[in-house]
Amino acid sequence: MSISPLLTGLTGKLPELRALYEDLHTYPELSFEEERTAALVAERLREQGWEVTERVGGTGVVGVLANRGDGADGAEGDGPVVLLRADMDALPVREETGLPYASKNDGVMHACGHDMHVAWLLGATGQLAAVRDAWRGTVVAVFQPAEEVGGAPKMLADGFAERFPRPDVCLAQHVAAAPAGLVGTRAGALMAGADSMRVTLFGRGGHGSTPEATVDPVVLAAAVVMRLQTVVSREVGAGQQAVVTVGSIHGGTKENIIPDTVELKINVRSTTAAVRERVLAAVERIVRAEAAASAAPREPEIVPIESFPVTHNDPAATEAVQAALAAEFPSLTFELTSPVPNSEDFGAFGTALGAPSVFWFVGGADHRLFVDVDLEALVRDGIPPQIPSNHSPRFAPVPEPTIETGVRALLAAAGHWLAP
Ligand code: ZN
Ligand code: ZN
Repeated sequence: MSISPLLTGLTGKLPELRALYEDLHTYPELSFEEERTAALVAERLREQGWEVTERVGGTGVVGVLANRGDGADGAEGDGPVVLLRADMDALPVREETGLPYASKNDGVMHACGHDMHVAWLLGATGQLAAVRDAWRGTVVAVFQPAEEVGGAPKMLADGFAERFPRPDVCLAQHVAAAPAGLVGTRAGALMAGADSMRVTLFGRGGHGSTPEATVDPVVLAAAVVMRLQTVVSREVGAGQQAVVTVGSIHGGTKENIIPDTVELKINVRSTTAAVRERVLAAVERIVRAEAAASAAPREPEIVPIESFPVTHNDPAATEAVQAALAAEFPSLTFELTSPVPNSEDFGAFGTALGAPSVFWFVGGADHRLFVDVDLEALVRDGIPPQIPSNHSPRFAPVPEPTIETGVRALLAAAGHWLAP
């Protein structure tokens, strides 16, 4: 369908959306602490005419709008149900962008662009509420807390399936460090699954001068860290993808004391269930075997921290979204050739609610940063390292045309299901 009726009046609302985006950027809130953001979202949705439920799974907000498309109020069942999701949380990062609207919450920053996601979805809900004769069906607008720590299951565990209409499709988008205005995705695996765990290695402490009377967990930890580097290089096939990172290592207090324990935090990324299982099993096997090799007095403790599934784009629904995006943004859409190593918890909605889901990326980076880079090279080689990407203290999507692109992309994709 042509989505132009759904865009009626959008241009005039862009300054207000930009002010909203800058306000959200100035006052970022950490995962599950999105009180101000959630209150603002609920207020805007009510002003627009949505039925609003607050405090879903913590600070989550859900808006529902049923529409018959002929001027009368709708009811569920009058057409397809489309779930649109935005995440709201920021990160414990000290902002270094120098932007006039930089964070005023010290040590907290919207470094992943979830402020942009909120602005996009509120822009789209505003259009859907204002142009009721251009679509029919039910839209469930989900403002999710705590994506960075896997907050989606919390909303689902809060009775989501019983409290809100069941979606026929779940859609979401993420701002990326690609040039602003570009929109891209792929069918099948789009983003890696992520698993992280805390490992405590036990030794037997003592004086640094008499290691023979101790079991040194620092040496044990060093052996574990090095041996873990062989998992991807020796146990994962050339055509498969996985990453194993030890992002944190802590042990000891002083140079002449051998400590009792060392703690590691390990992050694993994978793009298929088979590789995930193999890598997780290898990590555990190596941790346990190195402890045994060191004659550790106790078995290591391995405690899971987080687990994000692979973000899987339903092939048929993705084809429809890609066609809608290509029609809306001719020559600005791209197709990823392989999954990206980042992770998302958005897939939890489609999985739990039994609906296909589609996730895509919207570029937000300043074009001036990309003078010598063409689109083909970007898709092939990824974002050049000098471009500040998500989670960087210098990540700074340009408001224009990123805000408008994201609103149009959401409406274009949803429009496939909501056509009158
Ligand atoms: Zn993030
Ligand atoms: Zn993110």
